[in-house]
Amino acid sequence: MPIRFFNTLTRTKEVFEPIAAPHVGLYTCGPTVYNFAHIGNLRTFLFEDLLRRHLKYRGYQLQHVMNLTDVEDKIIRTCRETGESLKSLTGRFAQAFFEDLDTLGVERAEIYPAATDHITEMVDIIKKLRENGHTYEANGSIYFKLSSFPQYGQLSKFKLDELKTNASGRVDSDEYETEDARDFALWKAYDDDDGAVFWETELGKGRPGWHIECSCMSMKYLGESFDIHCGGIDNMFPHHENEIAQSEAATGKRFVKYWLHSAHLFVDNRKMSKSLGNFYTLRDLLAKGHDPIAIRWALISTHYRQPSNFTFEGLEAATESLRRVRDFRRRLEEVRIAGDGLGELDASCEKAFGDALDDDLNISGAIAAVFDFIREVNKLIDSEVTGKGGAERALALLDRVNTVTGLFGAGAKEETPAEILALVTERQQARRAKDFKRADEIRDQLLGAGWVLEDTPDGPRVKKA
Ligand SMILES: [Zn+2]
Repeated sequence: MPIRFFNTLTRTKEVFEPIAAPHVGLYTCGPTVYNFAHIGNLRTFLFEDLLRRHLKYRGYQLQHVMNLTDVEDKIIRTCRETGESLKSLTGRFAQAFFEDLDTLGVERAEIYPAATDHITEMVDIIKKLRENGHTYEANGSIYFKLSSFPQYGQLSKFKLDELKTNASGRVDSDEYETEDARDFALWKAYDDDDGAVFWETELGKGRPGWHIECSCMSMKYLGESFDIHCGGIDNMFPHHENEIAQSEAATGKRFVKYWLHSAHLFVDNRKMSKSLGNFYTLRDLLAKGHDPIAIRWALISTHYRQPSNFTFEGLEAATESLRRVRDFRRRLEEVRIAGDGLGELDASCEKAFGDALDDDLNISGAIAAVFDFIREVNKLIDSEVTGKGGAERALALLDRVNTVTGLFGAGAKEETPAEILALVTERQQARRAKDFKRADEIRDQLLGAGWVLEDTPDGPRVKKA
């Protein structure tokens, strides 16, 4: 089955045909590094991680670029309010961003370019747009002239001539609403509010607009036309619409073949906000003692185009699913009887898993395929027909589906404290000496310390209660 993605540009599911297979150019809008990413941001980054891993699983060679927005209205406002320098603020939060990715098991992109390292390239594109007649100047700032690009609105599907335009017909801020679609700033002339944040360039003293950075860095590293561009749905307008306008007006070529957008994340069915007390960063959830992979599970397991509703019950359910996977792995590791009774179960699971993800990243279908497999193989283990060979193949399958999802790994090994192991040994000696009273006492003692003891054909095993 070919891979199909829902392309926001055409509003249809399309067969994925990269421009130069097996190479795939992927651009994903990165974080604005002025505070910690919240779980809504992380949902988008996890969807992009799944996309990236699935394409690799299907044999594509990825060039994945994710920008770091390190100059932008909100960053400058924060610097002004706190007195911290731009470099110090954005450096701190870029580091926190990478820590969060590692914690959630997100694979690194090939390149993370920072906007402030690409001012010269941005100036070059703006000059090109100026030469092509797509810009005008007002009060030292340079704006993109929407009327010079009649295709404007192709992604968000509105007609340029139906737009309300306000008196000035221009917008300076980086983010604005659809009703405000107007000529937007490519280069913002310096004003006192910018403090120490400015560059002296051929375009004057000032700084770039937000949108131009993504046009610039995506085309620099992926070429003027590339395969996939992703982001959260709230970036579709104005950000992605403006990226298309800038890039296509500068090059005369189609900018991106497939646009993929992830839907919103709600918390307890409400929009996440600090005032409602339902605003969470990854660090907030870790501080409550949640397993990062369970958080990954909760944030990744709703289809990316469906609004996701984060709840603590949902996180508990994800934790339970994770426990089932890890228990299953442990059972497989303990199979000692020779033989292989797995049959075709691994192959049929992997087929169903891959088919589901090929279908626009149907993650629930993919997870269901793995749980069907776990259920069937657990029955085989119960009746002792899996065999060591079958168990090894089952573990290998889990490893393969784990490379795509990051959900089916072994997890951190539980360290058993020495005093607990000593008690287990003492109990074994008591049992051998037929001192069952003492053996039972030790079992209760272990339970009191929070450890459950199970007798298996391979001897006793303890695990945390
Ligand atoms: Zn962007």
